[in-house]
Amino acid sequence: MTGDLVGGSQGDPPAVRAGTRGDGRRAAGARPVVVRRSARRKRTVSADLRDGRIVVSIPAHFSPLQEDEWVARMVRRMDQKYPFGPPPTYDAPVEQLLGRARRLAGEFFEGRGVPDTIGWVTNQNSRWASATPARKSIRLSSKLQSMPGWVVDYVILHEMAHLIEPSHNARFWKLLTAYPRTETAKAFLSGVSFAANRAAGRTAGH
Ligand SMILES: [Zn+2]
Repeated sequence: MTGDLVGGSQGDPPAVRAGTRGDGRRAAGARPVVVRRSARRKRTVSADLRDGRIVVSIPAHFSPLQEDEWVARMVRRMDQKYPFGPPPTYDAPVEQLLGRARRLAGEFFEGRGVPDTIGWVTNQNSRWASATPARKSIRLSSKLQSMPGWVVDYVILHEMAHLIEPSHNARFWKLLTAYPRTETAKAFLSGVSFAANRAAGRTAGH
């Protein structure tokens, strides 16, 4: 459950009424939207992605205008958060990431570049990931969670390479040639950034 916050608590009971809003009036609405009104929900609005649909739960007393405003807001938020749908690994424990890093190190870096800590973060707005070589730590944007595994593997390897070579120099890129999908993954991520920039109305960069 991804909660939000007009205030109040989460964990409301099942909806008292459900109505489908897959009418395409919202520009961002590639996904069908289901609105649920709950009499016991006082001020809390929440949204969740279930079976490809965005389920927005609102208080029963909301006016149609309030409903429209909040549904639009929550749909925008869900589209930003899950551009490719909900990730199956969203709550994957950090140990899984460390195991994945170790596996990748063994497979492509001769065992080098394994971080001490690696975890998901939600506050990396403009970057996919970052590394702190001095602390051997890697942070991955949660936006990656809905991307194909081979793209995430590339990002992890990219950051692991920074633990070996901090700057983007020839040595750094040589490390990444060991991973056969480096160039494809870079192109994939460029495409995602391009699409996101266009959607946000910004001029696409290089
Ligand atoms: Zn880098």
